[in-house]
Formats: sequence, structure tokens, C-alpha cells
Amino acid sequence: MTTTPTKEGSAAVQARRVLVLNSGSSSVKYQLLDMNDRSRLAIGLVERIGEETSRLLHTPLTGGGAETRERNGRIADHAAALKAAAEELAADGLGLDSPELAAIGHRVVHGGLRFTRPTVITDEVLTEIERLVPVAPLHNPANITGIRTAQALRPDLPQVAVFDTAFHTTMPEYAARYAIDVETADAHRIRRYGFHGTSHAYVSRKAAELLGRTPEEVNVIVLHLGNGASASAVAAGRCVETSMGLTPLEGLVMGTRSGDIDPAVTFHLKRVAGMSTDEIDVLLNKKSGLVGLCGDNDMREIRRRIDEGDERAALAFDIYVHRLKKYIGAYSAVLGRVDAVVFTAGVGENSAPVREAAIAGLEELGLVVDADLNAVRSGEPRLISPNYARVAVAVVPTDEELEIADQTFALVGRAESAGQEVPAGQVDN
Ligand code: AMP
Repeated sequence: MTTTPTKEGSAAVQARRVLVLNSGSSSVKYQLLDMNDRSRLAIGLVERIGEETSRLLHTPLTGGGAETRERNGRIADHAAALKAAAEELAADGLGLDSPELAAIGHRVVHGGLRFTRPTVITDEVLTEIERLVPVAPLHNPANITGIRTAQALRPDLPQVAVFDTAFHTTMPEYAARYAIDVETADAHRIRRYGFHGTSHAYVSRKAAELLGRTPEEVNVIVLHLGNGASASAVAAGRCVETSMGLTPLEGLVMGTRSGDIDPAVTFHLKRVAGMSTDEIDVLLNKKSGLVGLCGDNDMREIRRRIDEGDERAALAFDIYVHRLKKYIGAYSAVLGRVDAVVFTAGVGENSAPVREAAIAGLEELGLVVDADLNAVRSGEPRLISPNYARVAVAVVPTDEELEIADQTFALVGRAESAGQEVPAGQVDN
């Protein structure tokens, strides 16, 4: 347990709050949690940083109410964004200068092979995260900016990096390595890393809990279907396969990303269509997937259009579901025995038609969905398969921020309860 002197330096205060920061290229999401009961004290989002139309949405969750306050107008950079968030928190009596704040936990997208666990951030750790920028050019720079900004705000506090890739570092080499020339691959660190790991870890553990078993006792397929989407095969609590690769582009059909594609499509677009590398990057990451197929990436809108008889929307839905089915089949084969298939994230938690269609026809794999259970709307983990089904099908709401807060607090708390300072730079080799 962390004790920190108050500003006056007198009575000690138990520091049991964690600030979670998820810094994107033009946005910062934050949550302040009270680790006594793991409740949220406040949540917020700063978006369109650097533009004239920046917006901050802040919702205090103490005192029963949940009224969102909004600020509009240019917020120049991440430092200004965090300062604005800190002001909003201070207005609720939750200032970041509080001695109750134990640590700041950062979502860091790419930890390469080196970071297999949450890690206290030192200069050396930050340098290593920077070294991974070539394999995560869109994400790691924003994460680094968020870390530096938070360090400037509270240089005295432990800052912890929780990596999206960490959960997947247990993948066996034969699953992680692409079948390309080994020297070239190794020289450029080209391999499958996987992403959304914090969500896959949390959801697979919660699924075991839902089944009344320990994570070590179950094999689970997790389908994280948000705007980005990925599948993972988790055997006895360890990830053995996942669908995203060197970057989050590989795998399932996503909101705006193509997922799996013949790599020769890129040569073809270059040679025949005369597109530049950057144009192809934008095409496959931003203008493909559901939005490329039918113009919409929101599953609610796609379902609405299907109900009106829109054929493009129907084809997009079918392509999306077909890819999901292929992964469920492939991961059943990889795992050998499957105890549960679990849906999570925006689409997985909310779209009963996607869940129904993805599982339809898989009775031979022991998979069945009960229509009534599937229609239930709830924020709780729940089974949607009938009692007699050989394999459970479940919906488990993901909570990446809670997982980051838990991992951050556990790391900081472990060191403190052992009577040590938080180790400067817990780095895995
Ligand atoms: P996420 O990235 O996890 O926030 O998921 C965002 C996506 O979830 C959106 O783009 C929608 O496609 C989908 N989504 C959110 N709410 C619903 C809903 N009620 N029904 C169907 N899809 C939804």
C-alpha cells in the first residue's frame, strides 16, 4: 500500500488512485479510478487535438450524478489536453496533484518482444518504446507524447506502461513467425505481434470466471469486435494465436481495415494502379473493411440498411461474418478443445445479428446460440448458448482501462508492500 506525505508533509495519506491514459495521435482518453473498490471517479476524452474544433468531454462519477461537461475550442497539443483534463478533475476535487494518486498507467500499443509485462517507465524504457516506432508508426509516437506529458505533470509519480502486445508474447514461434526469409524478417523485426492484448487478457480471464473455472483450466477463443477487430486463441490462460500481425491490419474484416489480403494486392496497386505506398496504406487501413465495402463502418447503420433491403450492406455483412467463421474454425483446430467462444467490444457486445450469424452452422464444432439469450441486452458477462451446448458461447464486456489500472496498481503496490521503492525500470528481457 502506498503512503505519501501530504503537501504539508504531516499525516500520511493512502495513495490508492490510478490515472489511466490512452493517448492517440489526436486524442487522449483518461479515467481516474479508486483502487479501494476499483470504481471510476471520473472519465474523459479530449479529441481533435491541434485542430480548431478540439473538444473535451469530462464526466465526474462521484456523488451519484454523471453529468458530462464539454469544452470546445482549440487544444494545441497533448500537454494542453492533459492540462485541461487536470483542470476538470481539480474542479471535482480530484486534482492530479493529490497525494492520493498512486500512479499513472499508460496504454502503449507496441512493446515488441521485450516487454512481456507492465513496466515502470524509465528513460531507458522510453528509449526502447521509441525504438519500436518503425513497427508502430501510428501509435507509439502518440503514446510517448502522452507519457512525457504526464511525467512533466507529476515527475514524482511512478508511470507504468501496459502494452497491447504483451499478452501475445506467449505465442509459439511457429505461430508468430511469417514464412519469409529469416534474415530479412529478423533484420527488420518482422513477425506477428498481435494487439488488443489487454482486452484479450481481461476477457479470457472473465470468461473462465463465468464458467466457474480458473483460466488455467479453460481454452477460449476471444473475438474482440470493435472498430478494430481481432481474434485470439487462449489455451490455459496463455495466448497461443492471434489474428493481428506486425501491425493491426492483419486478420478480421474491421470497420475501416481490410484484414487478411493477398500481399500481392499491394504490388499490383503500385505497379498497375500507380498508387504510392502511402496511398495504399490509407486505402487498406482507412478506406477498406466495412467502410470500403459499403460506405458505413457502424454495424448499427449496416443492419438498418440490410433491413431496408440494401444489397451492398448485406454483402459487407456476409464478408465480415465469413471471415469470423474462418477464424473460429481455424482457432478451434489450433486449440484442439474449446471451452468457450467469447464476443467482446462494440460489435461483439451489442450486435446480436453478428453473433448469431458467426455461430450459425457450427453445430459440428459444438457451437450453438440460444436466440432468447442472444437477444438479452446487458452490461454483464453472460452465456448466450443453451445449457446442452458442448461449447459455451458468451458475451463479456471488455474493460481495458480497468485492466490497465489493475496491472498498474498491482505493479506499484507489489513493490511498495515489499517495503521498496517502485523499481526504476522493470524491464523484461
Ligand atoms: P469499439 O471500437 O469497441 O468502441 O466499437 C465501435 C463499434 O461498435 C462501432 O463502430 C459500431 O460498429 C459498433 N457498435 C456500437 N454500438 C453498437 C450497437 N448497439 N449495435 C451494433 N453495433 C454497435
